[in-house]
Amino acid sequence: MESSIADICAMHQAYLLLGSNQGDRTSYLNQAREALASIGLIRQSSSFYETAAWGLTEQPAFLNQALLLETELEPLVLLESVLQIEKNLGRERKERYGPRTLDIDILLYDDLIYQHERLTIPHPELPNRRFALTALSEIAGTAVHPLFERTLDELLTQCPDPLAVTRLT
Ligand code: AMP
Repeated sequence: MESSIADICAMHQAYLLLGSNQGDRTSYLNQAREALASIGLIRQSSSFYETAAWGLTEQPAFLNQALLLETELEPLVLLESVLQIEKNLGRERKERYGPRTLDIDILLYDDLIYQHERLTIPHPELPNRRFALTALSEIAGTAVHPLFERTLDELLTQCPDPLAVTRLT
């Protein structure tokens, strides 16, 4: 009997957060989605959300979008791919929390709990960042965070971050 691609390659569900606060932010997010489509299938996309910058606050507001990417890439390979996409779209690493053309965070990956010197899954700041939880809840509100064992909707309700998040129409 012939094996199908699905038998050979396990597919994973990765929730990603895109962010941009430099130049044409919408264009960077659109280009990021196009690039991500070459490493998986984008199953869901949230609305765009605007949020004041977190951390270093004297910089332009961020545009964010959450995605569900179905991919066969393993976590560290996925990280390498998203870092390459950031680089291709002009990301420069100057200061922590500084302005960026494109940021891609891996928020969740299946039900994986993973700790590596280069990658932590779930993303450790997810429960503390209203912009990430707001965008993610739109497409995965009933999904359960594997560490906290609460839904994303519940984590959003309990989020201490005071920064306002505006959904763009
Ligand atoms: P930043 O782009 O400033 O958010 O930081 C990116 C760096 O954080 C990457 O080079 C990764 O090595 C590291 N990192 C750790 N966990 C994650 C994650 N869940 N998603 C994306 N980057 C991560």
